[in-house]
Amino acid sequence: MWKSVAAAPADSILGLTEAYKNDPNPHKVNLGVGVYMDNTGTTPILQCVKDAERILLGVEQSKSYLPISGDPQFGRQIQRLVFGEGSDIITNDRAATAHSPGGTGGLRIGAELIKRFRPEAATWISSPTWANHRGIFTAAGFPIKEYPYYDAASKGLRFEDLLATLNQVPAGDVVLLHACCHNPSGVDPDEDQWQKIAAVAADRGWLPFLDFAYQGLGVGIEADRTAVTAFAATGVDFFVASSFSKNFGLYNERTGAITVVSPTAEEKNIALSHLKATVRVCYSNPPAHGGLIVKTILSEPTLEAHWRQELAAMCGRIVAMRQALVDGLAARGVNQDFSYIKRQKGMFSFSGLADETVAWLRECKAIYVVGGGRINVAGLTSANIDYVCDSIAEALR
Ligand code: PMP
Repeated sequence: MWKSVAAAPADSILGLTEAYKNDPNPHKVNLGVGVYMDNTGTTPILQCVKDAERILLGVEQSKSYLPISGDPQFGRQIQRLVFGEGSDIITNDRAATAHSPGGTGGLRIGAELIKRFRPEAATWISSPTWANHRGIFTAAGFPIKEYPYYDAASKGLRFEDLLATLNQVPAGDVVLLHACCHNPSGVDPDEDQWQKIAAVAADRGWLPFLDFAYQGLGVGIEADRTAVTAFAATGVDFFVASSFSKNFGLYNERTGAITVVSPTAEEKNIALSHLKATVRVCYSNPPAHGGLIVKTILSEPTLEAHWRQELAAMCGRIVAMRQALVDGLAARGVNQDFSYIKRQKGMFSFSGLADETVAWLRECKAIYVVGGGRINVAGLTSANIDYVCDSIAEALR
């Protein structure tokens, strides 16, 4: 079967991690991988997750199937997290949520669902974006188009170009947007800009699909939902894919959700029936453990408060490391302005380092950065920050 088939290319970021693991240099630093790391360079299990697991161990009576869309209480808690308590979407029962295997599963289920009812639509992705966006929507059968997003010269958003392009997107097409913490650039629209984007969606009739993979890691849980709130206020149909890999540290439990928002509760019921039909033919029903952890934490005020603290600490550490990097480079007399790194949000940053610098850092200093210069700021620690700043300063000298 495979003799005459060329091998598929390896995932470039996971390949970088492999190379990092095999590097014998004791000073090596991994700024490539897409997971949060604490100040000791490890990806911890949150204490609230351990506590929830202990509770689950005591109360779980069966490993029988979950409902197709997951535990209903999970869905309610996710809507509270995504839209905020008292949101009109919740009070008017306008959203259907299915627990999915990770944010990736949520994106794919959403894409499959839309494809069934919008077979002619294209999907618009930001330039640049997380590589799997193109992969997931292509796999679901969509032609892919790009809208302008990141401006390498100003290290900011190409907002006018973005808006002009979104104004030309045909009604019915899908526009995939990063709700916060844009991966890979770290550049997000501000509140006013989100409102303008949402107004274009309402005016033009394209379908917003928000990828919400980093809620709580940009500014905070509430502030990070600015995009969601802007689309919610328009009353249009839209989709939200949540991931709990980063904000709950549940990477290998594959825990996420797909939420379909409709203008009315009646339409939502129809959407829910098709959402379930789509899940049924993809994976039948979701893996339970991660979703039950999230549900347990969000249903118990003390656990939720603890989670919020732990998430705020992760977010705060990222912000502190951005500051330390910018200050560290300035203190070493680097005259290139890196202050934009402090303005970026979330784990990722387009560092502005050229590909030659990225290659040099890897070969000579064992500092691993993704091609294009994306760094995972959470890979910086108080133990390696001086080495990284020294090395970048040396590279730029
Ligand atoms: N969207 C974006 C932008 C991401 O960066 C990621 C994770 N790298 C995901 C979605 C999917 O996350 P998950 O691991 O939960 O599938």
